[in-house]
Amino acid sequence: MSSNAADDKKTIPDIIIDKTRNCSYQRLRFFGKGGFAKCYEIQHTGTKEVFAGKIVPKSMMTKSSHKEKMAQEISIHRSLTHKHIVGFHSFFEDISNIYIVLELCKRRSMMELHKRRKAITEPETRFFMHQILEGVRYLHSHRIIHRDLKLGNLFLDDDLHVKIGDFGLAARIEFDGERKQTVCGTPNYIAPEILTRKGHSLEVDIWSLGCIMYTLLVGKPPFETSSLKDTYKRIKECEYRIPSSLRKPAVEMIVMQLQEDPLKRPSVDKLLQHQFFTSGIMPAALPLSCLTTAPRTDQLEKLALQRRPLHEINYIDDGHCGEKISVPQSNRKHLFALRDQLDKLMSTAPSDRWPVLTDELSDPAAQPLVWISKWVDYSDKYGFGYQLCDESVGVMFNDTSKIVMLANGVNVHFITREGQEIYVTMDDYPPELSKKMKLLSYFRRYMSDYLMKAGASAVVRESDGLSRLPHLHQWFRSTLAVIMYLTNGTLQINFQDHSKIILCPLMQAVTYIDVEKNFRTFRFSTIEKYGCDQKLYNNLSYALDKLNAVLGIGPMITFS
Ligand code: ADP
Repeated sequence: MSSNAADDKKTIPDIIIDKTRNCSYQRLRFFGKGGFAKCYEIQHTGTKEVFAGKIVPKSMMTKSSHKEKMAQEISIHRSLTHKHIVGFHSFFEDISNIYIVLELCKRRSMMELHKRRKAITEPETRFFMHQILEGVRYLHSHRIIHRDLKLGNLFLDDDLHVKIGDFGLAARIEFDGERKQTVCGTPNYIAPEILTRKGHSLEVDIWSLGCIMYTLLVGKPPFETSSLKDTYKRIKECEYRIPSSLRKPAVEMIVMQLQEDPLKRPSVDKLLQHQFFTSGIMPAALPLSCLTTAPRTDQLEKLALQRRPLHEINYIDDGHCGEKISVPQSNRKHLFALRDQLDKLMSTAPSDRWPVLTDELSDPAAQPLVWISKWVDYSDKYGFGYQLCDESVGVMFNDTSKIVMLANGVNVHFITREGQEIYVTMDDYPPELSKKMKLLSYFRRYMSDYLMKAGASAVVRESDGLSRLPHLHQWFRSTLAVIMYLTNGTLQINFQDHSKIILCPLMQAVTYIDVEKNFRTFRFSTIEKYGCDQKLYNNLSYALDKLNAVLGIGPMITFS
């Protein structure tokens, strides 16, 4: 199923023409690839509105079942309009492809959020589950069963609002009491009654919602095993465990959804009234930083205190943050994971051919959210300053304490040498921090005067109060490169020739910024299969050497 740029150029034109509506779209960024579809950002040439263009080559639609499925997907999706369903704009075809024009969900899906964060906090789960349920309530009230609700089909927009998408396995209930007998495809969070072919209906979505809620709070799916066969066995027997760290309302709600008997599962309306939604805080909005870092627990607790009557204070939602505010994450495990991944990559990837890495081999969904766009080494006196791609700035002082200022230029997070986080603002901080605050301003001014493109205007958002950014955990320089390691597991290496690599063990991907400043992200598995260009290969090999050195894993020195 390999594709190359030349093929795409031939079959997916730069200007896509919708003859029926007499309009056209310009094809912009490659956005991702699914089983059949390729997704591009596309722009209406008249209105300049930007959409997601899901493009399916007709050459892939060989079987009549594929055609039927596609027709069903379009027929269902086009009939839906709701704020928590991916907007369906239009569809059309030309000689080579079918084009589906959809609302663009820039923040990808909850799948990427899950890969980066694993278990998320209870308030975040509440925020997402409420929206997902509202979307499903709309579907069910229109007698639509989605049948493949999973994290990868829950898309996110710039406000982290959920949009349910991908109606490839959806079905319409044609008459009261209809039980569907089959699904043509394999739903991810498949309900027991589908496996046992007992006939199924709307309740299969409630089962999937239970799996989603469990996965969000626990960090892994409820029935996961190492083989599909065992997983299916567990599903049929409804065998799963809930960790004792989850609070009662959450446990109760999960248990209600994951019942073997579909008729015992509650309706969406019932779920929306569940105590889970009223027994803790519901954030009004979440900051984008939640895509990679847990929000500030102190703020969540403050919100909880403000909103709750006094007699309920003993029920404070601790956000299930586990780590609380102060304990630094164990970062070494990310480094070890990355080392193992690179080791496998270097021993698997073909090194006898150097294919051109095309856009279509890239995986933009695995792109890092945070990387270092500027740095200043002033460690002979004070420390190492840097700017992140969102224009926040940080300093790692020589005494290994750290400071980070959000892009809004107001919120400042100070991280002590012991890893405790202290939250202050530019005009309200304890006197003992004043020298470090001055240095932060100094570094910031230096980077904006000398290194930064000017004029980014900072906006303060309400959700900034919850924001926590990854920060620089360690850095060092060699003759060839600067190596920077962030608390979220990202390892960035800037080489002297200005090429850069950004490695992420959670997404298992490398972003390669070549000397021409092309910015592309490849999964390790893609490189293992196809290889990569020689320069990137050398950069990766350098990264592995450095990781081995840092982690003290090197060739054993023996004396004969
Ligand atoms: P398929 O049905 O062939 O599996 P998908 O629906 O998975 O195709 O879409 C392919 C890729 O496009 C995925 O990476 C998905 O994340 C992305 N995608 C699909 N719809 C949208 C959208 N509305 N906004 C942004 N990205 C989208």
